[in-house]
Amino acid sequence: MSILSDENEYGINTLCVHAGEVPEALGSIVTPIYQNATFLYPYALDAEGKYTDERPSYFYTRLGNPTVRTVERKLSVLEGADDAVGFSSGMAAITTTILSLIGEKGHIISVRDLYGGTYSFFTQMVPRLGHSVSYFSRNDIFNLDEQLRENTRILYVETPTNPTLDIYDLREIFKFAHEHSLIAIMDNTFPSPVNLQPLALGADVVIHSATKYLSGHSDIVAGIAAGSSALMEKVREAMTVYGGCMDPHTAFLLERGMKTLYLRVKKQNENAMAIAEYLQGHRKVSRVLYPGLSEHPGHDIARSMMKGFGGMLSFELRGMKAQAQRFIKSLKLAKVAASLGGVESLVTIPADTSHRQLNAEELRERGIGETLIRFSAGIEDEEDLIEDIAKALEV
Ligand code: PLP
Repeated sequence: MSILSDENEYGINTLCVHAGEVPEALGSIVTPIYQNATFLYPYALDAEGKYTDERPSYFYTRLGNPTVRTVERKLSVLEGADDAVGFSSGMAAITTTILSLIGEKGHIISVRDLYGGTYSFFTQMVPRLGHSVSYFSRNDIFNLDEQLRENTRILYVETPTNPTLDIYDLREIFKFAHEHSLIAIMDNTFPSPVNLQPLALGADVVIHSATKYLSGHSDIVAGIAAGSSALMEKVREAMTVYGGCMDPHTAFLLERGMKTLYLRVKKQNENAMAIAEYLQGHRKVSRVLYPGLSEHPGHDIARSMMKGFGGMLSFELRGMKAQAQRFIKSLKLAKVAASLGGVESLVTIPADTSHRQLNAEELRERGIGETLIRFSAGIEDEEDLIEDIAKALEV
């Protein structure tokens, strides 16, 4: 049904543009927005006037929609998954996927450096539902069996982590998960499938905040999960009941964004690398965290499992919080705003924004100082971004 006969035969740019598309009845070369809540009742009537199951099709948009389905198929191909399920946000994808796979009174082993919303879900909501979570850091990955319990069902990981860009050896983590029959779930928002394909390394489910790199234009909020048909069936069933479905218009914008995913991410990788190299020698900068730098502790592992090092970097300024605040306010091109992965560069102080719910000890444990700046490189010219940063550092 797809317009590409064998998706294995094509390169990533062709897949970004065409994967998931199906021939359109009226010849439109882009997937139309099926902006409807409901569809003609899909079952044919038999000779006696009873409904048959002959024509399984679209029925009601929360259960499935052709525009959303195109995005789901495109991401499945890019991640090497059997299937994918679209959601109204990255958090809807994370919460629904976890709740659909955790079973009764389940236990999760999770990386500690989580996106703030996921950390709140794990620390505040998951325990209230009778489940439990224990955490590991980079140094614990060879001792994960200490965390195992009889009811452990899920292993959850993000890498590079937010905002300290720590690299976890996913092959070791997923091997452990499979040895103990755990479902390995990876939040692949930061790297995107252009830089990292967790399923090929042994993950069972990949989740994205499609708000970020996948859509790439900071104009939608969306999420998506991908994996085997068996797991996605459970996730879809939960999505239709919890109700966090993707909206068709959002799916249209997401599909349009995904057509340029590779081109954008390649430029973002290059910009982040150039900025990291520039900052590394700067007298006002005490630390640069970017896995592409050979000095980064995770550089070798990143190089062996990633195709690119990503568009996110963090750096710590010498001095006090006021210097960091003055710096970000003095930037002209990079905008001070939450979120990441768009064509425009964005900058934040994580201790004040994405990680403000952490207490002082948690911030210290995770290496998030008050002058740590997180930079999401856009696709602007690297010389312009570096000049912008250089000028702001002198204010
Ligand atoms: N995962 C990561 C790594 C994120 O950075 C974010 C949002 O910033 C999310 C999940 C949540 O996604 P959303 O804001 O689309 O719900």
